Amino acid sequence: MTKYIYEFGPDKTDGDASQKNLLGGKGANLAEMAKLKLPVPPGFTISTECCNHYFDLNGRFPDTLEGEILKAMANIESQTGMVFGDPENPLLVSCRSGARSSMPGMMETILNVGLCTATIPGLIKKTNNEWFVYDAYRRLIMMYSDVVMEKAEQITPGDGMGIRLNLEMMMNNLKNDKGYDNDTDICVEDLKALCELFKKKIREDLGADFPDDPKEQLMGSIGAVFKSWNGKRAVSYRRIEHIPDSWGTAVNVQTMVFGNMGETSATGVAFTRDPATGHNKFYGEWLVNAQGEDVVAGTRTPNPLNNDTQNAQNKHLPSLEESMPALYKQLFDIRNLLEAHYKDMQDIEFTIQEGRLYMLQCRVGKRTATAALNMAMDMLEEGTIDEKTMVCRLDPKILDDLLHPIVDPEAEQTAVKVAEGLPAGPGGAWGQIVFTADDAVQWAKSNKKVILVREETNPEDIEGMRAAAAILTARGGMTSHAALVARGWGKCCIVGAGALKINFETKELRVGTRVFKEGDTFTLNGTKGIVYQDQLKMKNASENVRFKAFMDIADKYRTMQVRTNADTPEDAMTALDFGAQGIGLFRTEHMFYGADSDKALFLLRRMILSKTCEEREAALEELFPFVKEEIKATLEVMDNLPVTLRLLDPPLHEFVPQSRENQQEIADALHIDIEEVFKRSEKLLESNPMIGHRGVRLGITYPEICHMQVKAIFEASAELIKAGKHPIPEIMVPVTCNEKELAFVQEIVTQCHDQVLKAYEIDALPYLYGTMIEIPRAALIADKMAEYAQFFSFGTNDLTQMSFGFSRDDIGAFMNDYIDNAILSSDPFETLDQEAVGGLVTTAVERGRKTRPDIKLGICGEHGGDPESVVFCHKTGLNYVSCSPYRVPIARLAAAQAAIMYPDCP
Ligand code: ADP
Ligand code: MG
Ligand code: MG
Repeated sequence: MTKYIYEFGPDKTDGDASQKNLLGGKGANLAEMAKLKLPVPPGFTISTECCNHYFDLNGRFPDTLEGEILKAMANIESQTGMVFGDPENPLLVSCRSGARSSMPGMMETILNVGLCTATIPGLIKKTNNEWFVYDAYRRLIMMYSDVVMEKAEQITPGDGMGIRLNLEMMMNNLKNDKGYDNDTDICVEDLKALCELFKKKIREDLGADFPDDPKEQLMGSIGAVFKSWNGKRAVSYRRIEHIPDSWGTAVNVQTMVFGNMGETSATGVAFTRDPATGHNKFYGEWLVNAQGEDVVAGTRTPNPLNNDTQNAQNKHLPSLEESMPALYKQLFDIRNLLEAHYKDMQDIEFTIQEGRLYMLQCRVGKRTATAALNMAMDMLEEGTIDEKTMVCRLDPKILDDLLHPIVDPEAEQTAVKVAEGLPAGPGGAWGQIVFTADDAVQWAKSNKKVILVREETNPEDIEGMRAAAAILTARGGMTSHAALVARGWGKCCIVGAGALKINFETKELRVGTRVFKEGDTFTLNGTKGIVYQDQLKMKNASENVRFKAFMDIADKYRTMQVRTNADTPEDAMTALDFGAQGIGLFRTEHMFYGADSDKALFLLRRMILSKTCEEREAALEELFPFVKEEIKATLEVMDNLPVTLRLLDPPLHEFVPQSRENQQEIADALHIDIEEVFKRSEKLLESNPMIGHRGVRLGITYPEICHMQVKAIFEASAELIKAGKHPIPEIMVPVTCNEKELAFVQEIVTQCHDQVLKAYEIDALPYLYGTMIEIPRAALIADKMAEYAQFFSFGTNDLTQMSFGFSRDDIGAFMNDYIDNAILSSDPFETLDQEAVGGLVTTAVERGRKTRPDIKLGICGEHGGDPESVVFCHKTGLNYVSCSPYRVPIARLAAAQAAIMYPDCP
């Protein structure tokens, strides 16, 4: 019999923090806290395994589950002295979701389960607090109808307004009618009446009665939490975060403790260090007489936990430290204990019931990139963690944020301020304002940069938040949903900008007397929390001393080299600043694109449209000095470092002149008729240019093109050598599939090398000769390719394209369907497909090394800057990865972490 239930509490705890896969993060940490003897209300966790069995059984509980639940409930009852469903002394519980990794707000939780006609009077008598009981009851009705009766039943509300919104509106109307400011102002009689109205509305809208039986409520809640794993929001979050569907969620059933029992009760959320800056300060927010989500929901402005947490918005509100000093002290001690135990910043939830503190959750807290960096370095300096742990503390993906643009401080001085809020997500961003998540998605699709402006966000806004360049909310604190999500993504975000009055109907925003409309442009400084009018200038984050120190430590552990893909001296210099150790891909064709390429491009076109060898050679001769100068400039910047120069790669027709003017120019230069230019251009058209006459194939047809480029490389190098420099060129032949191609080009290369040595009267001009491996056939015959190639560079973009048979330029039409239907777990052009494309790489590495043990191996596709793919490259034993300049630090860190995690790999 499979054990599905793991208990936790003061008396008996089965699990611990290591069991996240089985118990989910929340369950595992509740168990761990209970083991640490912290005040955790007793309860039990139903495993993720049970969730998966529930889905295998098409939404039925495994037979043995109910028996286990009853037994575990009996244990809670004996620990608490209360009885579930008992009219005199009723036990209430919460049903909380909790997956392996935290998915904030994505799944469901139901509080106050067990309240019903039979138990209400008993609880009133016991607590002598009728208001509290009906407040708890209306919360249960709201949550249960939404989660269990609507979402889990997959009822889609006709008017787009779910039951929860309807009930919230009823409550707001009541507050408006009676002039209540806060939820806590509603009087008991009104609360009672509201509950009855709620139940009536549920019956009308959902066609079923709100259940009045505690056991039915419990089992309904458990099933609904399981089902929330496959809810729309949870599924789309998993796609974004690449979380597999197979993990499932656990359910935690836990004794309720109440923060809404009056002035000696409270609820709060805290971080053991500041999640925005990383400073070693206890940071949090709390509300008196409130329950559960109230702090996070942003409906009331939460109080600061202590002086360190005060900000413009909350400084007039009393802190917990002032209001309940003894409890604050207890919480502060727990904070220290948890940090010492987990050796990392924790995000905690607590509730105070009539002067007693309870711990409800802890987990590794989300943080900004700056905070992650500061905390990792601080903890190393404090001696809490060692260097390897420190290096692994920073997710390479968030490094971007440390290097990301900020609002130019100079531009900020003269900018027009719109409002101020809390700095919830780092950096700067500008965009056009939109007021709904759907609009954000739509506008972003048509390539507009948008700022999503909301009253407060909720998990339903997730796609829009993702699509937006930045997020701005009128309400909510530093632990609100918007702040949490933005921090997780490193997205610029400002919350709680209270001056904003949003009208969703007219899609307008008022700040005092100023009115802004949908489509107006704002700039956000997410680091300071300031909103400006119009688009301001952005600036790259300047040199960060601490970041450098961090990366220096990471580099000590790294075994793979990191190079960059760069085609200009400027890019090369940027990459050097970021720590690149060479160029892994210099595309010679680059000099024919972009600024100042007119003359070179004209000469190239003349060469392409030449008919006779003489015509072509004449054109090449004129083109030669341009190519040589470009190559020389980059080799010079990269002195003493290897530079892989790829011979001409793209299909020639890309360069054919399109405008009449350009066509005439070519006709004149070649002394031919414009009609003849048309004819020659037409001949260059191909049905499948990506697999057409390109790369090495051009060199086979027109060896003189190849010769010109190789000569340019060698002469550029020779001139640098004569000037006392040390260029290290590596000549790379693209799109090869046969070793004889390599033999053919090698002939040209060695001849040219000899000629240049003689011409420049130098003894040596060191270089390497190699090829890209980007056609599956080449990977499979890598042993033969290595007879000629001294190095391989895996061109994983083309290798992916040709392995899958997916055209990289056309995947937009179907990739989302592949992801939505879980046929692929991620876009293989973003994250290397380790199964097949990776298999080809591994094969080529093995076979290549067999022929030439010292062959140099690298990767130069986009994957070189993708952390997961970098780990793969390390495990496969590549010598280097190469990526775009801005991704160099990401690759360096990912490679260092790979070396720490997989020390035994080559
Ligand atoms: P989430 O994963 O969205 O944070 P939780 O399961 O943590 O959801 O619960 C939502 C809120 O309800 C939290 O504020 C939590 O502290 C509160 N809560 C959950 N269980 C209990 C309980 N047994 N007693 C009091 N509050 C609870
Ligand atoms: Mg929680
Ligand atoms: Mg290619």
